[in-house]
Amino acid sequence: MMGHVLIVDALATNRICLKATLSTAFYEVSQASNARDALSICQTDAPDLVIFGANTVDMNVADLVRRLDRLCPSPAPPVMVILAQDDAPARLNALQAGVADVMAHPLEDEELFARLRALLRQRRLDSDLVMHVNTASSLGFAEDPVGFSGPERAAILSNDCELAKDLCARLTPLCRFDLTPACHKQASAVMTGPGKPDIALLHIDEADEHAGLRSLSILQAGAIGRDLRLIALSETCAPGRAAKLLDMGACDVVSMPSEDTVQDRELAFRMTLQMVRKKRADVLRGQLENGLQAAVLDPLTGLHNRRYAQVFLRRMVEDAKHEGQSCAVMIADLDHFKTVNDTYGHAAGDRVLVRTAAVMRDALPKGAMIARVGGEEFLIAVPDTTLADVRGLAGRLGRLVRETPVLHSESDNPLHVTVSIGATLVHAARSHLDNPDALIEQADKALYDSKSGGRDTVTVTLRPAA
Ligand code: GH3
Ligand code: MG
Ligand code: MG
Repeated sequence: MMGHVLIVDALATNRICLKATLSTAFYEVSQASNARDALSICQTDAPDLVIFGANTVDMNVADLVRRLDRLCPSPAPPVMVILAQDDAPARLNALQAGVADVMAHPLEDEELFARLRALLRQRRLDSDLVMHVNTASSLGFAEDPVGFSGPERAAILSNDCELAKDLCARLTPLCRFDLTPACHKQASAVMTGPGKPDIALLHIDEADEHAGLRSLSILQAGAIGRDLRLIALSETCAPGRAAKLLDMGACDVVSMPSEDTVQDRELAFRMTLQMVRKKRADVLRGQLENGLQAAVLDPLTGLHNRRYAQVFLRRMVEDAKHEGQSCAVMIADLDHFKTVNDTYGHAAGDRVLVRTAAVMRDALPKGAMIARVGGEEFLIAVPDTTLADVRGLAGRLGRLVRETPVLHSESDNPLHVTVSIGATLVHAARSHLDNPDALIEQADKALYDSKSGGRDTVTVTLRPAA
């Protein structure tokens, strides 16, 4: 099935004709003769999309959109309005009421199908994103939405640079975001440059259609098209034209406005709609990325956490086996840290942890990883190393911590702390299938030796024993 479409229209003939059309394209279709019935259908059998005939009188479309938002799980099904006849102010009114798209009778089937496909494609992407965020959130990985994702920018591209500038001048007072004019030839440069736009309006010139279509396909196909919304501005209403542009990846197709302010406002509004959707997706994606990052980082020190360290160690050992290299695991534990807390307070203790973490992290060789795995315990993994290098590194880390005083308040003297370190070098080529826990255990034993040997010292062992 292509998707489930709910038709709401007071006129039975309209519903029957549209149902017949959609059924030929394998849509599952439900019908309602008024908005109230439509809402109860939505509660029991959520459609993917709602088509709202302008003959429906029991509710205006703005109310329907609002109620769908409240009733349906996010993202609510998009609403497409079908007007009895084409009329620019009515189209603008419908868009301002919150609908996703507007068409007018007589409907061109091919364009109708392409617009439905574009709306459903977008909804599927939105649903996927919402699902990932919800999953991450139920696992405790997603952060609260920040609600802001940087400045909003749109590019306007045409073969005719003067036309792009003219459109910019006309649309700027109607849009709340920055507009930049450019030529199709500059498409890749504009999109990859520093002020990368969120949406692009591509003017497809009848006289040189090729350049516009080329921009559309470059921007759509390339990786840079991933989070860029494209709106095609078509010179002609030739049958099949809008369908072709939508199927090439445009999110929307708009006819070139004449010098008519209502049409300019419609174009500006359609651009704003795409901008809002783009920014909403950015916020969700940011929420997901921040959340996933939070899942592997220690919030106090910014180092990795135990969860990440375990995965890293497993990989490191496998790689070492594969390459026949040696690798090392170290545990560094602050000495008498409880006394620091007891004497200077927990906040001072935290400052010591942050400073010690930064000092050790900055001293690690390339490719090594440090994680905070316990209160005042750090795990360091060093791939592709030697016994001499591990001894050198452990000694250096101990010295750096010892020699770096920590300021804990403006007036007091700085604090001096030390660490004890236990390290294990794994001859991966000679060892059995080691699991990370066994390595950590051996490094722990070495740490214990450093502690019982008087602290502020380093113990390095070999696995398997030489
Ligand atoms: P040792 O030399 O044997 O390692 O002694 P220690 O005092 O460092 O070790 P112990 O395990 O007795 O105490 C660790 C202390 O670390 C106890 C706990 O209150 C403190 N701690 C754990 N997590 C944090 C934290 O996030 N911030 C602060 N300030 N203290 C912490
Ligand atoms: Mg300690
Ligand atoms: Mg400890």
